[in-house]
Amino acid sequence: MPNLEQLRDWDRAHLWHPFTAMADWAATNPLVIDRAEGVYLFDTEGNRYLDGVSSLWCNVHGHRHPRLDTAIRSQLDRVAHSTLLGLTHAPAIELARRLVELTPPGLTRVFFSDNGATAVEVALKMAFQYWRQKSDPEPGRTLFLALGGAYHGDTLGDASVGDLGQFHDLFKPLLFPTLRAPSPHCYRCPLQLERHSCAMACLGEVDRLLTEHPGKVAAVILEPIVQGAAGMVVHPEGYLKGLRELTRKHGTFLIADEVAVGFGRTGSLFACDLEGVSPDFLCLAKGLTGGYLPLSATLTTEEIYSVFHGTAAEEKTFYHGHTFAGNPLGSAVALASLDVFEEEQTLANLVPKIARLGDRLARLRSWHHVGDVRQKGLIGAIEIVEDRPSKTPFDWDRQVGARICREARSRGLLIRPLGDVIVIMPPLSITLDQLDTMMDAIEASIEAILGALEPTR
Ligand SMILES: *Cc1c(COP(=O)(O)O)cnc(C)c1O
Repeated sequence: MPNLEQLRDWDRAHLWHPFTAMADWAATNPLVIDRAEGVYLFDTEGNRYLDGVSSLWCNVHGHRHPRLDTAIRSQLDRVAHSTLLGLTHAPAIELARRLVELTPPGLTRVFFSDNGATAVEVALKMAFQYWRQKSDPEPGRTLFLALGGAYHGDTLGDASVGDLGQFHDLFKPLLFPTLRAPSPHCYRCPLQLERHSCAMACLGEVDRLLTEHPGKVAAVILEPIVQGAAGMVVHPEGYLKGLRELTRKHGTFLIADEVAVGFGRTGSLFACDLEGVSPDFLCLAKGLTGGYLPLSATLTTEEIYSVFHGTAAEEKTFYHGHTFAGNPLGSAVALASLDVFEEEQTLANLVPKIARLGDRLARLRSWHHVGDVRQKGLIGAIEIVEDRPSKTPFDWDRQVGARICREARSRGLLIRPLGDVIVIMPPLSITLDQLDTMMDAIEASIEAILGALEPTR
């Protein structure tokens, strides 16, 4: 077993970390995670950290949950992997059935893959192919409409509908064109309006774009209720429902990317449930396996599926697939995670935690340098600004968000910022006491980096 110094040296010598400025990385001593228990991660030196990002927004019931661990062990005694190409297996079949039961009405078909980016890529390709081969084809529907600040994954298709400049701009020559509607981001409204009087003019923009491109739009895609990577942008109530109505009015599809918000994050099992919306495609990943293993699913309706249902000779097949699609271990732990939702009443138990998070975030509202606080369910965000009245951000090179999160680490809390937005996304299994400890650490870290705690009013 290599010692800590060896591990760090070998990491610097051979690993290329995702979304990581590698020179900055090489200049620090990385935390080497060794094991976990519940909401805590432990490093190789035995230090304990609260997992405030749910190991990148995916852990649901805590680490090493006995029920989930057992599900994997029992499946391992049968088979670790077998393909869904030309064969099938019980865990994937049962999981597909459960997902159809639990997701919004109308979604009856499940296409498995192995990560969030592919779940979205699959929805895009299915929507595109649908219009080409339906009985009365509309091959002109080649465009997608997506929101400002959208993040749907890192494949070239997902980047085409995505809109995070820093991540996607460089690749523009490789991307397909996308219609861009303003994000319903009320703190920084792209239309410069105020929520109390705007009558959701951003929906009007979608209506306008769809009207200007008749018969051209294959689907509208969004992260429903909360746009994650954009900075945990919480959409105003009614936006999702309004968007669903507009896609119906214009006869196009709605793709709901619930990769981040699915599985209880927003307080209901799926974000679409909050507004009684059934999308035409639903993309699931991160929390699907309780955050244990890579697995994803793209659900769609029988109407869409029926256009692909044919013999090889009919050439209706969806020629797309991933080696580890519907992996048995992943499917088994996903089933166990859904059982735990029922057995532990995860959603009902979330209610007081959501209220506590709300109380704690409310305290920060008046703080110097806190421009905005946002919350939906057990997702929280604190947007740090240099100047509150003008909402002016700190210069990027001051790395304020990153410094606050580094400070939190020294206080036993692991969090990751999105720019200067401090993201709060603990496992749903966090207790009220742990939640208070986490918020205490965040307050202390903001204070340590920015000082001047005095409320501005
Ligand atoms: C994380 C994320 C993805 C991509 O999922 P990966 O498993 O990282 O490929 C797609 N959409 C949203 C909304 C996400 O948050």
